[in-house]
Amino acid sequence: MFDYALPYAAERKQFGKPIGANQGVSFKLADMITEIDAADYLTLAAAWRLDQKLPANREIASAKLYASEMLARVTDEAIQIYGGMGLMDDLPLARFWRDARVERIWDGTSEIQRHIISRDLLRPLGA
Ligand SMILES: Cc1cc2nc3c(=O)[nH]c(=O)nc-3n(C[C@H](O)[C@H](O)[C@H](O)COP(=O)(O)OP(=O)(O)OC[C@H]3O[C@@H](n4cnc5c(N)ncnc54)[C@H](O)[C@@H]3O)c2cc1C
Repeated sequence: MFDYALPYAAERKQFGKPIGANQGVSFKLADMITEIDAADYLTLAAAWRLDQKLPANREIASAKLYASEMLARVTDEAIQIYGGMGLMDDLPLARFWRDARVERIWDGTSEIQRHIISRDLLRPLGA
């Protein structure tokens, strides 16, 4: 979705300039790439702990929770950058948006990931 949104923000002109020249659009791109990077680093950190044979339940749950919720925000913002075009069947964006929804459900819902994370924090304290 980011790979669609970035060039579109540079190409699409409104009021005589690329829409990406407006901070209302460019700041979305900044937030999107920051969140994508954060999800990558959480995933790599969890994978590193697994490779080291360290406990990694909390880190894996955090990576899955954050990446799948990030995906919802990023797909939504990408469609916003496309405006009405984002919902047209000529482009795959609306389909990606719908497909992204399942990521917060399968392989452990967001609620269950939060349960795993909070249990990992509280259990050692006897709570
Ligand atoms: C397209 C698709 C493909 C799938 N493929 C597979 C597959 O290949 N293999 C497989 O095994 N499964 C698969 N699933 C099943 C998927 O893993 C489950 O849908 C998922 O685990 C959630 O279970 P559920 O749908 O029964 O929801 P439920 O367990 O009924 O949960 C409903 C809601 O209640 C919340 N909830 C439930 N219990 C708690 C709790 N203790 N605390 C807080 N909230 C709670 C959930 O987070 C959710 O929001 C697939 C699902 C979909 C949609």
